[in-house]
Amino acid sequence: MNTSATSAKPQNNKFEPRHDWTIPEVNTLYALPFNDLLFQAQLVHRAHFDPNYVQVSTLLSIKTGACPEDCAYCPQSARYDTGLEKERLMEINKVIERAKEAKEAGSTRFCMGAAWRNPKARDMPYVTDMVREVKKLGLETCMTLGMLTREQAIELKQAGLDYYNHNLDTSPEFYGDIITTRTYQDRLDTLGNVRGSGMHVCSGGIVGMGETGDDRSSLLVQLANLEQHPESVPINMLVKVEGTPLDSVDDLEPFEFIRTIAVARIMMPQSFVRLSAGRESMNEQMQALCFMGGANSIFYGCKLLTTSNPETQEDVMLFNKLGINSKQTKDYSDEAFAAALTDEITQKQNASLYVDASAKTSKPSAETKIMDEKTMDKKIKTQTEQLIS
Ligand code: SF4
Repeated sequence: MNTSATSAKPQNNKFEPRHDWTIPEVNTLYALPFNDLLFQAQLVHRAHFDPNYVQVSTLLSIKTGACPEDCAYCPQSARYDTGLEKERLMEINKVIERAKEAKEAGSTRFCMGAAWRNPKARDMPYVTDMVREVKKLGLETCMTLGMLTREQAIELKQAGLDYYNHNLDTSPEFYGDIITTRTYQDRLDTLGNVRGSGMHVCSGGIVGMGETGDDRSSLLVQLANLEQHPESVPINMLVKVEGTPLDSVDDLEPFEFIRTIAVARIMMPQSFVRLSAGRESMNEQMQALCFMGGANSIFYGCKLLTTSNPETQEDVMLFNKLGINSKQTKDYSDEAFAAALTDEITQKQNASLYVDASAKTSKPSAETKIMDEKTMDKKIKTQTEQLIS
């Protein structure tokens, strides 16, 4: 087997986005030895992103259940008896409270989801007000409200909405097994309306629904061959909910999930790949491999719409173990990254030169050494080089 994966060749030391992927080519990536695939994904990831930064979003269900659609994985469909409690559209002040909590917990983006086929004209004033109020808190905003017309997309954009989520869910070939109440083309049309309005696109899919390997490749081909890659690509592992048609489908092999993340990273090098639903069933080691494969976004919070998600505290502990933080260096160039690291190291070293003013002893401890400027500069340079090499 040719394991060179011709498909991800760097140009000008960057891995440039492509829009002409084929299913056999993607199957070749999937079939790479695991270490080769992760290595390639890391190369691509590091060419575009700070490898130790994971973007954090919070997702809130602003209207729960009673959805007329028949998505076979979804407990919010009115067609399945899952015991889910329906909730009407949430009041704006409650949404704001939750957004404030999300910001305090470290989220930079607040996503609001409503279980609708599409928003009605009467809903638009409420959701646009929500967008305006959440924006005032200094958070990025995202919504997922179902299908959108061109006019609705423009209205949301004008209210300040940054991202709109609308997943393709699966391959066009497998789609009819999962949803019958809207077509694949309906989904592509909504994505076109969102892109046309100037909003950022968030679109991905769900794996582990009983699809084949070809279906997983085909889903990624659909996403990567869009005229412009979605800025955010959520990759979800099916969360099986009793009462839905997929409640007893076979589990997906965990390595196949990690491979999906890595292949998505290679195919959409500049997109944030979100390790999305299904994280609660993944142990820390599996999540770490997903980050190594190029996942660089997660949802914080104990609920993802209606399915459970790890507690925020567990995520913070995992980030600490992995040296991942939520400080974003907006500019992902090598120079900017090196400058950010130099700042961090300088701050740490400066801190070590001073004695805590509140400490009872006024004398510096015996271990405190004052470095002259030259020694410090040299040390900073060496540490920076080690960290970025
Ligand atoms: S995924 Fe969305 S559209 Fe489909 S049933 Fe659930 S809430 Fe409705």
